[in-house]
Amino acid sequence: MADIDIGAWRFVEHSRVQPYTSMQVWDGLTDSRISFDWSATENSCAEGENTIAYMVENLNLASGLLKYIDELGGLRVFDKSKVEDITTGPETEELNLSSWPVVEVSGGRRLAARLLVGADGANSPVRMFAGIKSRGWDYPTHGVVATVQIEGNGWGGNEDKVAYQRFLPTGPVALLPVSL
Ligand SMILES: Cc1cc2nc3c(=O)[nH]c(=O)nc-3n(C[C@H](O)[C@H](O)[C@H](O)COP(=O)(O)OP(=O)(O)OC[C@H]3O[C@@H](n4cnc5c(N)ncnc54)[C@H](O)[C@@H]3O)c2cc1C
Repeated sequence: MADIDIGAWRFVEHSRVQPYTSMQVWDGLTDSRISFDWSATENSCAEGENTIAYMVENLNLASGLLKYIDELGGLRVFDKSKVEDITTGPETEELNLSSWPVVEVSGGRRLAARLLVGADGANSPVRMFAGIKSRGWDYPTHGVVATVQIEGNGWGGNEDKVAYQRFLPTGPVALLPVSL
């Protein structure tokens, strides 16, 4: 598969990027599993080039992307603003915005958009405006996220980090390597 490089990687803080060389995902009941391990393939690679993926904190990724957008220019970012309301625009003698979405962001600014892209999560205001129905329910389950320091075998040395995910009836348990 060809690499796709949009050019944002150089803006990511690389001291906070953790490469890993293997990923093990298994079912807690049947023990069915899938492994991604570069060294188990017949691919030959130079030492240190057996990375299958990188673990990057969302904040680092988002901040890298924002820096890249800033460098590209031509785009205005309304940081720390919330979409408060979306309606269709007015129809006047000069201008007919009745089929245009008008987005009101915090502070009262209103933006009329010919194209409105919704990438706003589970309770998407854009989806609601578009009248797209969704179904959801409470599991009811809580998630716990913590940073732990692991010693001993099975975790990989300094170079060979392994990501583990195990799926149980009560929910998934994941142990994912992050940079120290
Ligand atoms: C603990 C955890 C672990 C997960 N692990 C995995 C995994 O291993 N693999 C996997 O594939 N998925 C995983 N997921 C799920 C994955 O994170 C989500 O499916 C994905 O992030 C959804 O992306 P999204 O862009 O639709 O929404 P989001 O990532 O929720 O982004 C929505 C954005 O819209 C913004 N927004 C919302 N409303 C407004 C508003 N009114 N005005 C302005 N901005 C607004 C929010 O602030 C947010 O930045 C995990 C989720 C959690 C919580």
